[in-house]
Amino acid sequence: MVIIGGGISGLSTAFALLEQAASAEVPIACTILDAAPVWGGKILTHRVGRLVMEAGPDSFLSQKPWAMELCRRLGLADQLIDTNPVEKKASVLRGGQLHELPEGLVTFTPTQLGPFLRSGLLSWMDLARMGCDVLLPRRRSTEDESLAAFFRRRFGRHACERVIEPLMAGIYAGDAEQMSLRATFPRFYELEQAHGSVIRGMMAARRARAQHSSGGGPRHTMFVTLKNGLADLVAGLTAHIGQAGGVLKAGVQVEALRVRSHQAGRWMYDVIGTDGTALSAEALVLATPAYVSADLVRPLTPLAAGLMEMIPYASTATISLVYPAEAVGTRLQGFGFVVPRVEKRDLIAATWTSLKWPHRAPPQEVSVRCYLGGVGREAILQRDDEALVRCVREELASIVGLQAAPHYVEVNRWRRAMPQYTIGHLDRLAQLDAALSRFGGLVVTGAGYRGVGLPDCIRDGAETAAQTLRYLQSTAA
Ligand SMILES: Cc1cc2nc3c(=O)[nH]c(=O)nc-3n(C[C@H](O)[C@H](O)[C@H](O)COP(=O)(O)OP(=O)(O)OC[C@H]3O[C@@H](n4cnc5c(N)ncnc54)[C@H](O)[C@@H]3O)c2cc1C
Repeated sequence: MVIIGGGISGLSTAFALLEQAASAEVPIACTILDAAPVWGGKILTHRVGRLVMEAGPDSFLSQKPWAMELCRRLGLADQLIDTNPVEKKASVLRGGQLHELPEGLVTFTPTQLGPFLRSGLLSWMDLARMGCDVLLPRRRSTEDESLAAFFRRRFGRHACERVIEPLMAGIYAGDAEQMSLRATFPRFYELEQAHGSVIRGMMAARRARAQHSSGGGPRHTMFVTLKNGLADLVAGLTAHIGQAGGVLKAGVQVEALRVRSHQAGRWMYDVIGTDGTALSAEALVLATPAYVSADLVRPLTPLAAGLMEMIPYASTATISLVYPAEAVGTRLQGFGFVVPRVEKRDLIAATWTSLKWPHRAPPQEVSVRCYLGGVGREAILQRDDEALVRCVREELASIVGLQAAPHYVEVNRWRRAMPQYTIGHLDRLAQLDAALSRFGGLVVTGAGYRGVGLPDCIRDGAETAAQTLRYLQSTAA
């Protein structure tokens, strides 16, 4: 069988498939191809002296267990690190000023009103409107709803615009007005349906957690990462895949797929690379971005190709800047800040990387990462690198008074990198699965479909592996 795409999704699929096949004692030949010369797709760690710079993802959610589990399976448990326990606050920009996010605001479980009011982000009226969530009836319609429409309805316009939109839509570099609530944050939909209120649902979940938490294993912060960078996750995966007999071929861009034969429920596909590579496969996993997979499957199923093409991708850029610590002083507090769309700024967020993860820079240096682009804000990416650096430096000077010149700068552009789960995404996925199910052993996985973050890509990879193994076993029987 062949897996096309060696980002976290393709590598996780290969790892899980070889592991599952070994425990089921099913012999399997698995080849994984990637167009790039290096493995890992969006995961790209640059180590510069003692600096650890992430060009793409820099951490993952610990509450979604699949990435943590994979790290443990790869022998990387001792490399997992938590965020800095001292500097843990994040801020939101409002009217050109940073306002600290009070604890509880993100989880909608305010225990004290004082910090909320002092933060200056929301007024008494806004907080009272947020509280109306416990009184408002649940929505009866089963139609998909946008993230913005849901939160405006439950918590009011200001809470939505100033807190929820930048924190939640920001993760996707998306526009909350277009994003599907159920495809991006299904938990909120479920809380409303089950408890009639997000706040009541959150409080019930907290009570249940408190009752069931028996101390157990070590608790981690909301985000965790690997001490020397996420490239170690990629290296661990490729090493294990190789040891388990998987064949890894980098630098092979797949340009065409064909059905070679289809007899008695057994399918055989041809995989053709631009370099002349030609492989045949009984099963195929496409772990490429949805628009690439669409081009590959179009000759087989224009219907599936059309559905994949309907998944839009946003472009972004990350700009990393490193300063001498003495030039920064105490200007930077907490983990960084997000910028609500209503502020109409170029910058969408900034992370004080070495404050969030202290080991990422030696003590005499401070590293910062700024984000530009995203849905509706992509025009700025047409500027050259120098102009992007100038733009974020001006933003940092105006917002936190950081005038110093960085001594190291990196601009990483991410063209069509962030899939957008727009309203109706889940219905389109169901249609896509139906269209692909006509082809034995042909499946898609990756950030474009059932979760953008690393843990969801890893979970989907493992499920794709299980589905593929079942198919291969059924055709062998
Ligand atoms: C700037 C940025 C920051 C992010 N931050 C975080 C974060 O902090 N935490 C988090 O959990 N997630 C984060 N994400 C999201 C996460 O990184 C991605 O969703 C995830 O890495 C995507 O993995 P993938 O394997 O599905 O796709 P990709 O990583 O895109 O892999 C697809 C692979 O397919 C290959 N390919 C493409 N075309 C072909 C072809 N024709 N033939 C062969 N191979 C091909 C590509 O070379 C690539 O390696 C971030 C994303 C970006 C862009």
